[in-house]
Amino acid sequence: MTEAVMPTYGRVDIAFERGEGAYLYDTEGQKFLDFATGLAVLCLGHGHPHLVSEIQRQAATLMHTSNLYRISGQERLAERLVANTFADTVFFCNSGAEANECAIKAARRYHHENGQPERFRVITFENCFHGRTLATIAATGQEKVLDGFGPKVDGFDQVPLGDIDALRAAIGDATAAILVEPIQAEGGVLPVSDQLMQEIRRICDDAGLLLMVDEVQTGMGRTGRLLAHEWSGVSPDIATLGKGIGGGFPVGACLATAEAAKGMVPGTHGSTYGGNPLAMAAGNAVLDVILADGFMEQVQYIGDVLLSRLEDLRRRNDSVIEEVRGKGLLVGIKCKVPNMDLVTAMRARNVLVPPAGDNVMRMLPPLNIEASHVDEAIAALEDVCRELGQ
Ligand SMILES: *Cc1c(COP(=O)(O)O)cnc(C)c1O
Repeated sequence: MTEAVMPTYGRVDIAFERGEGAYLYDTEGQKFLDFATGLAVLCLGHGHPHLVSEIQRQAATLMHTSNLYRISGQERLAERLVANTFADTVFFCNSGAEANECAIKAARRYHHENGQPERFRVITFENCFHGRTLATIAATGQEKVLDGFGPKVDGFDQVPLGDIDALRAAIGDATAAILVEPIQAEGGVLPVSDQLMQEIRRICDDAGLLLMVDEVQTGMGRTGRLLAHEWSGVSPDIATLGKGIGGGFPVGACLATAEAAKGMVPGTHGSTYGGNPLAMAAGNAVLDVILADGFMEQVQYIGDVLLSRLEDLRRRNDSVIEEVRGKGLLVGIKCKVPNMDLVTAMRARNVLVPPAGDNVMRMLPPLNIEASHVDEAIAALEDVCRELGQ
């Protein structure tokens, strides 16, 4: 591997050349079932004809203008996101971490606008993941992302997920907001129960805090609803999106109520690329597909099939698999053997899956997979369990 690329990643020695639907082909001509989707990015799989043609059309028409001018695709995507969520307004950027930066800035500006500039701290939860910028590693709070990058950006406090007393105790005069993933995805597919989400909402209301949900991985249909917090019935003040929103094109978004965004007036925030015409063509094309009648129901259906097949498999292989959890097509398999052994053994059987924290192997297939893809993944995992079980 070339030293010209800064070695910040531990990479597998495979290079892919081409993708088609749920499959990837490497430079040696090997075919892989893609249940990693570039980490929940390729929600429509590879080479989806509508997404490809919309990107091609827009690239040939107008790629970029900057945010000095109106961008019609941005207005359209924002209006569609607003029409289909709790939000009144949307800021576009290029990644999940940037979306969270916008959320954090909006929360600080909100209290500034209310005459309480001393309220700037954000409470997050142990084991969370919010990105790799200086502020979002501080929000994430784990030693493994902070190590050597000190001093830690001030203004973030972590509490154990589910410990309501610790959450209440962490709230002080300087607290501005709570930031939570509806399911801690990188952390190991650990869900926040509906009751807990409702309790967090009540705590925010009591203390005058903004509730911010990080839906970078859970959003855009991944759990069978457009946004995962919808399952709890709770309405947040701010939600962040990334990953699946562009279907493979880099897009991020920060959604907010008009009240929560009231401090974000002209000049307060910006991005050169954010919401450019090409990115918005990708975002609108993805929405065309996932907002179509029956699409979410199909994600729920195929997700339930996958989860029940996995639960079945676990019962027969309980020396290898401890637990199967998740929602829709965000699935975590907690392993009794090292999770990387499963990830590697799956890849040896031409199925790509990512690991997660808590010794979990994840499955993040395209949202438009069919039953045959589930069969294929289950057959490979069955094989792997036989190999790794005693
Ligand atoms: C991936 C992820 C991020 C960071 O997104 P980037 O696009 O890598 O900056 C933030 N939050 C969650 C929940 C994620 O899964």
